[in-house]
Amino acid sequence: MEQETSKITFNISKEKNFSEWYSEIIAKAELADLRYNVKGFLVFQPWSVEVMEIMYDILESILKRKGHRPYWFPAVIPEENFKKESEHIKGFTPQVFWITEAGNEKFNEKLALRPTSETAMYQMYSLWIRSYRDLPFKAYQRAQVWRYETKATRPFIRSREFYWVETHNCFATRKDSELQIKEDMETTYELLFDNLCVPSIFLERPQWDKFPGAITTSAADTLMPDGKMIQLPSTHLLGQGFAKVFDIKFKDNDKKEKYVWQTCYGPAISRIFAGLISWHGDDKGLVYPFKVSPIQIIIVPIYKTENKTKVIKKSMALKKKLAKEGFRVNIDLNETKPGEKFYFWEMKGVPLRLEVGEREINDKEYILFLRDENRKIKVDEEKLTKLIHDEGKKFDERLKKKTKEKFESSIVSAKTKEEIKKAVDSKKIAKINFCSLEKDGEKCAEVIEKEINAEVRGKKIENEEKPSGKCVICGKPAKVVVYIARSY
Ligand SMILES: [Zn+2]
Repeated sequence: MEQETSKITFNISKEKNFSEWYSEIIAKAELADLRYNVKGFLVFQPWSVEVMEIMYDILESILKRKGHRPYWFPAVIPEENFKKESEHIKGFTPQVFWITEAGNEKFNEKLALRPTSETAMYQMYSLWIRSYRDLPFKAYQRAQVWRYETKATRPFIRSREFYWVETHNCFATRKDSELQIKEDMETTYELLFDNLCVPSIFLERPQWDKFPGAITTSAADTLMPDGKMIQLPSTHLLGQGFAKVFDIKFKDNDKKEKYVWQTCYGPAISRIFAGLISWHGDDKGLVYPFKVSPIQIIIVPIYKTENKTKVIKKSMALKKKLAKEGFRVNIDLNETKPGEKFYFWEMKGVPLRLEVGEREINDKEYILFLRDENRKIKVDEEKLTKLIHDEGKKFDERLKKKTKEKFESSIVSAKTKEEIKKAVDSKKIAKINFCSLEKDGEKCAEVIEKEINAEVRGKKIENEEKPSGKCVICGKPAKVVVYIARSY
């Protein structure tokens, strides 16, 4: 298959002008087309969709391994269901798209286009779950959801339609449901870091910032190059609130009827993609991790008129050999200069480039370019597949090392308001002693928001940290260590 190579130079400082970098790379690399004529909606293009499809495969295989089973629920939810849980409706109503008519008929009851599927799924759960033998019940669906966002939209980060996976789970005991939150955290790290090389920190949100209808909300936050945190997957301990209004009961082995304990978890694939390109990209364009790049190796034949046939024939043979090994490999056969092809595929973020010329063919030794380090190495034809395999692995390991170090060094302790401000002004995350994540701490969070324009993101749930001394804001004894950052 031929890829279109156009003359391209991309050179924008990601660190200095992240906003411009982000907009420009989306256009140049053809990740999304924003010209669709409904506000807040956009067209995702192959060079992002192909990555997101691989991300879906990875995530769904993790979920299946952990006992979740796939469902496809309707996208429409009757208003009656939606109204059942009062906190939930209060939280989501301003964001719901409603269908009020179809054909020539006006509906007596309007239908919500799902902004999330609790109220679609749980009425069915009440029909399906009967006994403790049916538990745990762990389901998921891959779906798109619609939310009438009133904040400024940004491709992949916030749009009125987005793509995600949602899991909805029922358990016999509160303890079991709490363990699911831990499992969701591990799933998140496995997807984000082990596979996508994106670092994050899993935080339990303050009570004033939880999912409508939940007991607690926890989420993985990562840091964007402009110093703002962005929420990636979030998971919610729902308790029995939804179970009671949707009547999801089971007969326990003590013969008593009980309500189930629930959790739900929602990794937004499109938003994780935003985190991925923002972490790995550089001033020359995208850098895709080897594991998820739609093209892992691009072969660029370098020839003159007299040896064109020979070089292309050899390039095709190498492509065939690598494809047979399971690599995603392509060959650039456009009639443009090799240098232009180099720029183009570097901008597109293809991790490895194999350069094939007459001399390389004769020496049986090719040049392999490593996109992340902007470095060339020689690879022996005999050991080509093994070397590509190794270099692909090393590529992702380097990304992990680099992003992990950067993320960890972005978290700094602060002891005063001035220090918090200094940290977030220099694109960092401040860690502070804080009075409380319950209702009574909200006043201090408001001070931080007003005076520093930053947000209390929450506390760590793994290796929970013990505070010492006083709340940096109000001076009352500190009960918790929290993380503060600017945010999207
Ligand atoms: Zn306080």
